[in-house]
Order: sequence, then C-alpha cells, then structure tokens
Amino acid sequence: MADPIAPLLDAYAEDRLRLPICEDCGTAHLYPRARCPHCGGTRLAWREASGAAELASYSVVHRAPSPDFAAEVPYVVALVRLAEGPQMMARLVDVPPDAMRIGMRLALRFAAMPGGERRPVFAPAETPP
Ligand SMILES: [Zn+2]
Repeated sequence: MADPIAPLLDAYAEDRLRLPICEDCGTAHLYPRARCPHCGGTRLAWREASGAAELASYSVVHRAPSPDFAAEVPYVVALVRLAEGPQMMARLVDVPPDAMRIGMRLALRFAAMPGGERRPVFAPAETPP
C-alpha cells in the first residue's frame, strides 16, 4: 500500500500544503491516513489548504533537541487549527513572545528547516486595513 503521508511531504517540497479530504463525509484530516478518521471512508482526495489558521497552543523551545537546531533556539512550536478543521504542529515565525495570543489569526508560509527540508510555518496574518 502507498505511504499515506507521501503526498503531504511531496507537497511540502513545492511549498504547498495539501489536505486529505474525505469524499464520503466531506471532512479534512491530518495526519494523513488510509481511511477517514471521521467515517472510515477510503475515498480520499487531496486539496490545497487555504493557509488560514488560528493559534490553538504553543510552546517556546529554549533547549535544542539536536545540535542541528542549536542556532535556532529560542523558537516557537505551535499547535495551529487550520480553517479546514484539522490541527497541525508547526513553527511560528515573526511573532514577538509577548504578542502571541491563543486564537490569533495566522497565515501559512514555508521555510527551510536545519536539515534543508521545506516545511510549513505560520506567521501572524495581515490585519485588514
Ligand atoms: Zn469521512
């Protein structure tokens, strides 16, 4: 069976976030699975995410998990809730620590991780004028 995560990682390499959407119940989910976690359906289609999200939770990392990340600390790891429903973990960028608020609106970007892989990160959404 094909690796259900492969389409997600392939999209990351192109700076795109695509979500598996169940064609039976219409809901999106993450992480990718072979079956819809909501209804058990197997008819899954990949669709581009809007990139809109909100901050659900976060943690400031002060101690690098490996030497590769030593130059990155401190950084923020966030749990974000995508507009399509699923939640995902990602780095939060361009937010001063005292400006982070649960529920704040975020926008998707991509950045190179220390190992060179492209991964989604989130930054504060532009405030409408
Ligand atoms: Zn479903």
